[in-house]
Amino acid sequence: MTSEVSLEGVSFSYPNGVKALESVELTVPRAHTVSIVGPSGCGKSTLLAIVAGLTLPTSGTVTRCKVEPGRLPVTMVSQKETLLPWLKVKDQVGLHFRLRRQHKTERVRAWVQDLLDLVGLGDFQDAYPYQLSGGMRRRVAFLTAVAPIPQVLLLDEPFSSVDEPTRLVIHQDVFDITRQYEITTVLVTHDLAEAMSLSDEVIILSRGPGRVAAVHTMPFGPERDIVALREQPEFLELYGKLWRELGLQLDNGGRKRQRSFRDSTSHRPDWMTEG
Ligand code: ADP
Ligand code: MG
Repeated sequence: MTSEVSLEGVSFSYPNGVKALESVELTVPRAHTVSIVGPSGCGKSTLLAIVAGLTLPTSGTVTRCKVEPGRLPVTMVSQKETLLPWLKVKDQVGLHFRLRRQHKTERVRAWVQDLLDLVGLGDFQDAYPYQLSGGMRRRVAFLTAVAPIPQVLLLDEPFSSVDEPTRLVIHQDVFDITRQYEITTVLVTHDLAEAMSLSDEVIILSRGPGRVAAVHTMPFGPERDIVALREQPEFLELYGKLWRELGLQLDNGGRKRQRSFRDSTSHRPDWMTEG
């Protein structure tokens, strides 16, 4: 199996001395989806920046495969609201082609229309972001990143702001589109069920500085009905196992609370009752 990106012994410290990653070993096979889960602050976003090539590791090596002709090397969707308020949905999704002045060709128009139809946004081509729901805006952000067919797609908690039922529908779109166009995908998420249902491999990072605590191969095959999958006993059993492993890393980020709310006998802070 060809590996698209691989990291060997990658460590990273920020200039202020915060150590974010420690000896990370990671292989992302071509056209696979690999998810990364782990406690807040364990270095997930830092790891994505390194995979993207935006950040160089302090030590260790990153190896990337050659980009297939016609593809963009990498695109990314983050948690942030990134749609340009002055662009219509079709211009947003076709942004890559617009920047290359190819957006007026019939082929590009048809491609953007196809993508929008695929995710049920066919009737919203001419809408502006403020006219869409949160879930629709996230779909548009996702399509903007996949429209140029990247070699590697990086997703940093892209759907965490979306309500659960909508998220499940988006998951099916993400699964279908990334498989259809063989887009190697690295997904960072704190939603373990999202990680499992979309991925070939789930990687659990330890609390910071992040190390690979476990790698799990998902046994669910290349064709998935996401909603049905999440009800299967096999899925639920594996979910329980991974949840326990992840829980070992949570443990309040290794920091002990100085004091517990249970120690307090009063229901009012001092300043409310004083003088
Ligand atoms: P995650 O995405 O898993 O929540 P991050 O990769 O954002 O974690 O951060 C990992 C660690 O690095 C955290 O301790 C965070 O506070 C620290 N960190 C993140 N960005 C910076 C920065 N620009 N400068 C210094 N420290 C940072
Ligand atoms: Mg993050």
